[in-house]
Amino acid sequence: MKKSTLTVLTACAFTAMLVLVVPVIVQAPQTAAPDTMDYFSSRLNHLLPEAPAPSGTSRLMAPAAPPTSEPPSTPRTDAAQSPQPEAAATESVTPVEPVPSAPAPVEEPVPPVVSAPTPAKPAPAPTPAVTAGKIAYLTFDDGPSANTDAILNILKEQRIKATFFVNGRTDDEGIRLYKRIHKEGHTLGNHTFSHKYNKVYASVPAFTRDVRKLDELLQRTVGESPRILRFPGGSNNTVSLRSGGSGIMNKIAKEMLEEGYAYFDWNVSSTDAARAVQPTSDIVSATIASARHKKRAIILMHDADPKTTTVKALPEVIRGLQAMGFKFDVLRPDSYTFRFLNP
Ligand SMILES: [Zn+2]
Repeated sequence: MKKSTLTVLTACAFTAMLVLVVPVIVQAPQTAAPDTMDYFSSRLNHLLPEAPAPSGTSRLMAPAAPPTSEPPSTPRTDAAQSPQPEAAATESVTPVEPVPSAPAPVEEPVPPVVSAPTPAKPAPAPTPAVTAGKIAYLTFDDGPSANTDAILNILKEQRIKATFFVNGRTDDEGIRLYKRIHKEGHTLGNHTFSHKYNKVYASVPAFTRDVRKLDELLQRTVGESPRILRFPGGSNNTVSLRSGGSGIMNKIAKEMLEEGYAYFDWNVSSTDAARAVQPTSDIVSATIASARHKKRAIILMHDADPKTTTVKALPEVIRGLQAMGFKFDVLRPDSYTFRFLNP
């Protein structure tokens, strides 16, 4: 090959390189600074699509992620499901302990900055259990509802703590009410998330799933999940027979006890569920009459939208019970219990 031909070929090769590389260098600064490297990488990958990655280094442009068996996470509409991603997200934003720019003097060591996780909600001071005398346990089932605030206002005014066997609500108002119940020192009990007889009593796993769903919601909302439970319809309900068959309540009750829940029925009914809207005076008289000769009274009431007369009756019920010498307390796993069914 002639020397002149070689020179021409070399010049051509050099020109070709300039044509390919110069636009990369000229255009690159137009992109936003953080993306500059990505820009170069993509351009160079484009120019050298088949270039093997040098050993020990990765390819300039990451290959498309292989399809995974798990679908990408989708926005959740039901706050009661899969709490783990939320917890993980919280942990990931926990600030890393900062490294001091200058070394601390040896004689005066700087205490490490502890990025202690701030508790979501300060737990209310536990109320000491009432152990002597006549004790009344006011229990409100099926909330939160449009009446929860009114019930809480009365309890606050009377300085009385009660037990709320709640169902699952993920709307803002429901969440606010769980928090208020908890913050004001009352006890949240599990009354299943759905309260749907056909669903929860279909089988033991169906029941435990529904209970856990509410436990997880309350854990995220108030920082703890209940250890006390009331079966929808009570432990001696017959509605469960339709979906779960004979013996289903026995199996479920046994399972819940094994899982560490204490469950409670009632030995005083306010009769507020006897009809859609029970007259206020009937609620008062039935409650007082039933509690009269008892030393421990677990009183069934309802915190549900139609139960406005329960709210109206409450102050008089409280006065009547106090007049008979009752003190009030919340239900606890180890407090007096009353069960229709003992498996
Ligand atoms: Zn109920």
